[in-house]
Amino acid sequence: MPLMEPYRVKVVEPIPILTRADREAAMARAGYNPFNLRADEITIDLLSDSGTGALSAAQQAAGAIGDETYAGSASWFRFREVVDELTGYPHIFPVHQGRAAERILFNALLEPGQLCVSNTHFDTTRANVLLAGGKPVDLPCAAAADLDSDHPFKGDIDLDALRAALEGPESVGVVVMTITNNGGGGQPVSMANLTAVRDLCREHGVPFFLDAARFAENAWLVVQREPGWSDKTPAEVARAAFELADGAVASLKKDAIAHIGGFLALRDPELAAQCELVLIATEGFRTYGGLAGRDLEMLAQGLREVVDPRYLAARAAATRYLGDLIKAAGVSIVEPAGIHALYLNAGRLLTHLPPAQYPGHALATELYLAGGIRCAELGTLYLGEEDENGVLLKAAPYELVRLAIPRRVYTQSHLEYVAEVVGEIAKNPERVPGYRMVSAPKLLRHFNCRVEPIRA
Ligand SMILES: *Cc1c(COP(=O)(O)O)cnc(C)c1O
Repeated sequence: MPLMEPYRVKVVEPIPILTRADREAAMARAGYNPFNLRADEITIDLLSDSGTGALSAAQQAAGAIGDETYAGSASWFRFREVVDELTGYPHIFPVHQGRAAERILFNALLEPGQLCVSNTHFDTTRANVLLAGGKPVDLPCAAAADLDSDHPFKGDIDLDALRAALEGPESVGVVVMTITNNGGGGQPVSMANLTAVRDLCREHGVPFFLDAARFAENAWLVVQREPGWSDKTPAEVARAAFELADGAVASLKKDAIAHIGGFLALRDPELAAQCELVLIATEGFRTYGGLAGRDLEMLAQGLREVVDPRYLAARAAATRYLGDLIKAAGVSIVEPAGIHALYLNAGRLLTHLPPAQYPGHALATELYLAGGIRCAELGTLYLGEEDENGVLLKAAPYELVRLAIPRRVYTQSHLEYVAEVVGEIAKNPERVPGYRMVSAPKLLRHFNCRVEPIRA
């Protein structure tokens, strides 16, 4: 069947369409940093797939019957039933978003100086490991380093390196597998890899957790790509993945197709009791954890909808379709296309710009100036290291631009528009200027820095 969204539109929202002059003025005001743009200046927003999805009519209806009882709300019991069915974990705690689950778990689990080993830590996961006194270690598989290879499971962890870490001199407090591997280009993790991780963790008595923000998208790619799983439903694959682990943290702003929410779920009753105390002190009582009853209802319904194979097939096909159009326009992407985002290889397109002039940022900025498309780079602006005088010490390994795809928000013609804008830029890439830093805070500078174009 050809690509088609398995839903129709019931409520619409106009999108702002600005002139090039308006966009230039907006970008100049924003210090050429897309994070400083206002929503009413953006035509297509591909900054994040987090909390940006469109609710279904059934989710809206569920929200309307949200029960706002302080303790023991009916909405909590509905939420718990769905998460229990999905994961099988006996202890389930709602939290306001994924990073709260990370903070609670790592503070309970990690001794100071212990390692947290992962395929790749998401940035808040890494920050929460550090704040808990732990040391985050990323061990992506070798295939992940080749952006062009079409290896089906580039999100896997390097099992030899994991074994070496578990047998090494430093104590490993927990192993966390991120599915799909967001920090590693949104690539999926195979069930074979998760099973091997489970076996190694068991052998060494180390807890094994999932960072399961995109559990359904990972399950879909397992059904499509992994021998032995093609006859399973996405819900069955997701359940099998959760069963391998001792627990999970999850941001529900992604695969619950809702605007806020998360959970921490686990098996160990003692660890659960410890986490519950911190949950009550910092998030809320165990039956709401920082969420309203209406949020719990919308999350429960979203978790049911996200494992629908027709929804996942259409979403995966849409991302792949955009990737194919972009490649046809002569721009490389990180292969193979995943689901929640495409990553453009800006370094390969803008060969006239050295890393010190931020080619990834230059392409992201140009996408806005040329077409009102907002997105962000994952290159030297985000990951590079500079001295006090702003001289580049270490460039990022790649100059990438991430086009994140919100769930159920944009149609095929919106994606065709995005590809057309990319294609226009690719016709004369040498016209795209580089950028220099104007002001930057010491930490997380990509959110707050101001830069300016270097005019020839
Ligand atoms: C978004 C995300 C988080 C953090 O979740 P929030 O809900 O944004 O706090 C953690 N891990 C991964 C893989 C994510 O994508």
